[in-house]
Parts: sequence; C-alpha cells; structure tokens
Amino acid sequence: MADIGLIGLGTMGSALALNMAEKGSDVAVWNRSSDRTQAFMAEAGDLAPRLSAPEDLEAFVKAIRTPRAIVIMVKAGGPVRSVIDSLKPLLDEGDILIDAGNADFNDTRATEAALAKDGLNFMGIGVSGGEEGARHGPSIMAGGSKAAWARLSPILRAIAADYEGQPCAAHVGPDGAGHFVKTVHNGIEYADMQMIAEVYGLLRHMNGMAPAAIGAQFEAWNEGPLASYLVEITGKVLQALDPETGVPMVDVIVDSAGQKGTGRWTVIEALKLGQSANVIEAAVGARAWSAARDVRGLGAALLGDGIEGQAVKVNDLAEALLSARILAYAQGFSVIGAASEEFEWNVDRAEVAEIWRAGCIIRSALLDDIATSTRAGLPGDALYLADGLRMPLMAGVPALRRVVALAVTAGVPVPALSGALAYLDTMRQPRGFADLIQAQRDFFGAHGFERVDAEGQHHGPWGD
Ligand code: NDP
Repeated sequence: MADIGLIGLGTMGSALALNMAEKGSDVAVWNRSSDRTQAFMAEAGDLAPRLSAPEDLEAFVKAIRTPRAIVIMVKAGGPVRSVIDSLKPLLDEGDILIDAGNADFNDTRATEAALAKDGLNFMGIGVSGGEEGARHGPSIMAGGSKAAWARLSPILRAIAADYEGQPCAAHVGPDGAGHFVKTVHNGIEYADMQMIAEVYGLLRHMNGMAPAAIGAQFEAWNEGPLASYLVEITGKVLQALDPETGVPMVDVIVDSAGQKGTGRWTVIEALKLGQSANVIEAAVGARAWSAARDVRGLGAALLGDGIEGQAVKVNDLAEALLSARILAYAQGFSVIGAASEEFEWNVDRAEVAEIWRAGCIIRSALLDDIATSTRAGLPGDALYLADGLRMPLMAGVPALRRVVALAVTAGVPVPALSGALAYLDTMRQPRGFADLIQAQRDFFGAHGFERVDAEGQHHGPWGD
C-alpha cells in the first residue's frame, strides 16, 4: 500500500512526489491528463519502485493505506474544488485531503468546515521554495487538525528543508492557518523583492553602475547580515548575460511584473483585520504600476523622466535595506498575530520564523534573529521592538533616511523603502496627527471622539 497519494503532477506536484519517494515514502500518483503521468513515471529513474500510478481515480484511492492522506497539488480555486468533488464519493470517514497549493485561506476554512460534515479531514498546507525546494527540501506550513497532522507529519518532516538538524515543517494552527501563514510569507517575499529592486534602481540610475557590478555588490552583501536567498539570486541574475545578444539579461526583460494573488491577499486580509502592512502594499502596488507600461511611457513624454541627484553611498543602501527588511517582516508578523487572534489559531510565530530559516524563498540570516527574539517575547507584540532587532534596526535608520531623502529629491521611486520609514516614524510617535482626523469626522459626520481628559464620547464646538 502507498503511504500517501498525490494528485497533480505539474511543476510542484511532481517535485514533491519525487522528494517523498526519495525520503522513503511509497507514493501513489494521479494526474488529470495521463500523458503527464506517463512522462513522470518514465523519468522517475531509481525512485520508480516507490511510485505507483494506478490507472483510474478509484484504483488510486484504493492504493493508499487508511486513513488515507491525499495531497492535491493543482491550480488553486476551481481545479482544487473539482478534484475534491471527484474524490469525495471514493473516500472513507477519517481520510485526509491536503491542499498544498497557494489557496486563499478563506476557501480553505470553508472547505474544511464542509468536509468535516462528511467526516473527512481537510488540511491546507503552504509549501515554499519553488520547484527546487519542493524537490529537495521546502518549508512547509501546515493548517488543519492535530490528528491529521499526526498522520502526515512523519512524511512531511522527512521531505522538508533542514535547518541545523531541525526540519522546516510545522503545524501552525487549525483550518486555514497554514495557507494564511504561507500567504503572508509571500507578502513578505513581495516586499523584500521590491526593496531589493529599489536598491538596484538607485545603484543603476543614481550611481550609474552596470548590472554586473551591482550583481557583484549583492554577491558581497550576501556574505553579511543581508545574507538571504533573494539577495543571493539577485547577485546571480544581475551578472547574467543574454545568450542571444550578449547584453545584461536584466536589460532584455520587459519591466512589467506579474502576480498571482498571494501578495494582494496579504494586503486585503491585513486591511480586513484593521492592520496596514504598507511595505507589502507598496510592493503589490508597484507591480500593478509596472504593468501600466503605456501610461508610464506617456508620463515620461508629457511629464519628463529626468533623474537628477547625487550618488547614494553603497554602504548606506545595505544598512537601509536591512532596517527596511526588519520592518517588512514585522508587518507580516503583526498580520499573522492579528489573524491568529481573530480566528483563535494560536499560531506560534517563533515557530513560523524557525521553519522559514531554510527551504523557503524568504530564508535569510535575519530569520534566525527573528526566531530567537520572538521566542523571548515581543514588546508591544511588535517585532521591531524586540531586543535582538531594535539595535540593527536603529543602526540602519540614519542610512534609510539618507537613501529615501536622496531618492525622493532625485525623482527615483522607492515606495517600499519610504513606506518602511513612514511606518517606523509613525510607530515611534507618542502623539500622532489622528486627533485632527477625529475632529474632521466629528465635524462632518457627528462621529464623536474621546477626550484626553474625560471618559465617554464627546462632540466639538462646530456649531451647525
Ligand atoms: P502547474 O501549472 O505546473 O501544474 C498544474 C497542475 O494542475 C497540473 O497537474 C494540471 O493537470 C492540474 N490541473 C489544472 N487544472 C486542473 C483541473 N481542473 N482538474 C485537475 N487537475 C488540474 O502548477 P504548479 O505545480 O506550479 O502549481 C500548483 C500549485 O502550487 C498552485 O496552487 C501554485 O500556486 C502552488 N505553488 C507553486 C509554486 C511554484 O514555484 N510553481 C510554489 C509554491 C506553490 P494537467 O496536467 O492535466 O493539466
């Protein structure tokens, strides 16, 4: 009997199936189109004895030991729903379906509740690390019942990335918690990518550096506190040449970034929870602006596109990026904390940081400090106030100010870096400007306000 079943042999599914087989699980696989299944089995090589490809869905289900665990790795939304619908009549009470794609956690919660009525377990699992991670060691964020996790955890912990002997896989909470944490992971990924791109833009446009030289700089930064997968690949990407033309690869790529939804979901859910992850929001927004190429071209023609300013100090950029990165992670952690409270998930954010230290796209040296600081407790529930993070944050803030000021003066957009600075400055203001907002609201809408010197709701002397 197979230990586990897997449906969907696309990029991620096939890599996960091979990883599970390599780590000692017997895996039954199924794919909607059989050509792909045949190609997968033909290429499985030494791992083929641990893989089986039953010829129909009924045989596939029967091939898995009970309670069955079936990983679904197909496109999110309709395709996942259609796979679940076709499986349902074939399953027994107690079986476990696992959506391992990038699902909207609201869907995961709804599906979990609906399947529970039929006696079926549903888990939503976030898998990060791209194809390479899925094949050799992803970071795995699991949501669902503890009993279902107990059945799955030996298999998933065996395939996860390893950080100093600890597997980067954990049960982060019930129902949609795993997909939520993965969504926020991706939101932080958006922010980090945008901030890195802004640093590249400044070096390119204000310092006049060539892509290869900037790439070498990122490579050097990857040896210090900025060490991370995204800084590492940025170094490589910027030093690559287009095989066809010989010019820097980055120069032949259209400057219009795609998105599939997880960054946007992070922002939407943050706002619904009364939070503002403005650094992540800046990154999502910047991708949307990047897509408006025609309008940007028109803007350049009608408004001018000149950039005038002094060169930025290279070391300032490194310090600014580290501080802004701490603030972006802090926003992600606040959003997870707010959701955990709202949905009563009891997510252990220190454990989340621990399983992000290897395998996932946002893995970075900083995450170890984040894990240690979070474990020790966050003053005001704010990551940036933690003992181990306050010092590196504040050490880089003067540089962040200089970088943002120079960029703004020169006309280079840095929405994420400047957003991070605005967040920091807001969060260290004992008395902000919202008193005026409250007065304006009361003036036009009689919404009332609280006074600093008396209880209850009050109104201002605005007359009629
Ligand atoms: P692919 O496009 O490579 O594969 C999609 C799979 O979905 C194929 O097996 C396809 O089957 C199947 N499928 C599509 N529609 C249906 C349907 N209606 N019914 C049954 N099967 C269907 O996708 P990925 O492997 O890249 O992504 C899978 C999931 O993993 C997505 O949710 C994605 O967001 C997530 N993910 C992807 C990452 C990545 O780096 N690529 C990283 C982390 C998560 P068929 O062969 O028949 O077309």
